[in-house]
Amino acid sequence: MNKEFIYRELLNILDEECIKVDEPMKKHISFKVGGPADFLVKPKTEEELSQIIKFVKKENIPFLVIGNGSNLLVKDGGIRGIVIELSDNFNNFEIDGTIVKAQSGALLAVLGRNVMKSSLTGFEFAAGIPGTLGGALAMNAGAYGGEMKQVVKSVRLMDMDGNIFELSNEEMQFGYRKSILSTKNYIVLSAVMELKVGDLDEIKDIMADYSNRRSTKQPLNFPSAGSTFKRPEGHFAGKLIDDCGLRGLSLRGAQVSEKHCGFVINSGDATAKDILDLIFIVKSTVNAKFGIMLEEEVKILGED
Ligand SMILES: Cc1cc2nc3c(=O)[nH]c(=O)nc-3n(C[C@H](O)[C@H](O)[C@H](O)COP(=O)(O)OP(=O)(O)OC[C@H]3O[C@@H](n4cnc5c(N)ncnc54)[C@H](O)[C@@H]3O)c2cc1C
Repeated sequence: MNKEFIYRELLNILDEECIKVDEPMKKHISFKVGGPADFLVKPKTEEELSQIIKFVKKENIPFLVIGNGSNLLVKDGGIRGIVIELSDNFNNFEIDGTIVKAQSGALLAVLGRNVMKSSLTGFEFAAGIPGTLGGALAMNAGAYGGEMKQVVKSVRLMDMDGNIFELSNEEMQFGYRKSILSTKNYIVLSAVMELKVGDLDEIKDIMADYSNRRSTKQPLNFPSAGSTFKRPEGHFAGKLIDDCGLRGLSLRGAQVSEKHCGFVINSGDATAKDILDLIFIVKSTVNAKFGIMLEEEVKILGED
């Protein structure tokens, strides 16, 4: 891969300050680990995004779209090709009656605060999830009995030819922490959600309760990607891990959280390898004791 050629071509599409070369991914993911991306770009418009997509397709350059990096673990060798970050730009939204239209880079926390101010209910579950709308739709993010599937009406997407199209809620194929984006290389541009009119005080109380539950039960003062593992059918990953006696287990800079065993945290200067080695130990121990192979919820990317 000729990096000078790629940089020159990217400069034809984007302003210079929107292109970072050899960018440490630890600055862009909540786990705060990971080697450099060859390029990290921040398009400002759908037109710029479409030009980048056409370029990477034509030149066969690997690429990855990220939001707020709160469900990612990038390996220490970093990422070859181009990372497209849609969190800072692409964050406009509007609320009209019970309809919320938002771009993919809008943070759930910001959307949550604003729909609350409009006395809209149904989105309380999402306000404490530290991701963007795009990441939340890709993952069908959820908490406290709510999930994105319950509030989304339609999603605008871009395919690998730069075509823009819309999918309905059903066509998004939402499942437990997955959507059509788990199998198709589409990029979320924006979405329409429909909420219900509620009582402002009740909405505030629900949000305060969820926020309190998060800060009491989750290790929010350490870098992590939230729940490391998916919930195995009929079980809770954290309980299985705890029952194996792994609470607080440390491996160099990585640790099974003392506060919540379902979280592997970066307890100091962890490398991605520390975290991956600890994940391996946790999975092997749980499998040996209970015959259940935990599956990562966090997306593991990049090179060793
Ligand atoms: C402390 C903590 C608590 C958490 N609590 C929860 C929780 O309660 N519930 C929950 O579900 N998750 C939780 N998470 C995980 C994470 O916040 C969610 O999965 C979130 O939806 C990820 O959004 P993101 O913008 O950070 O996506 P990223 O981590 O940047 O990306 C996640 C995936 O989405 C894809 N993606 C991102 N943007 C787009 C786009 N525009 N188009 C196409 N694909 C895209 C990426 O390629 C990647 O595959 C938690 C994480 C942390 C750190």
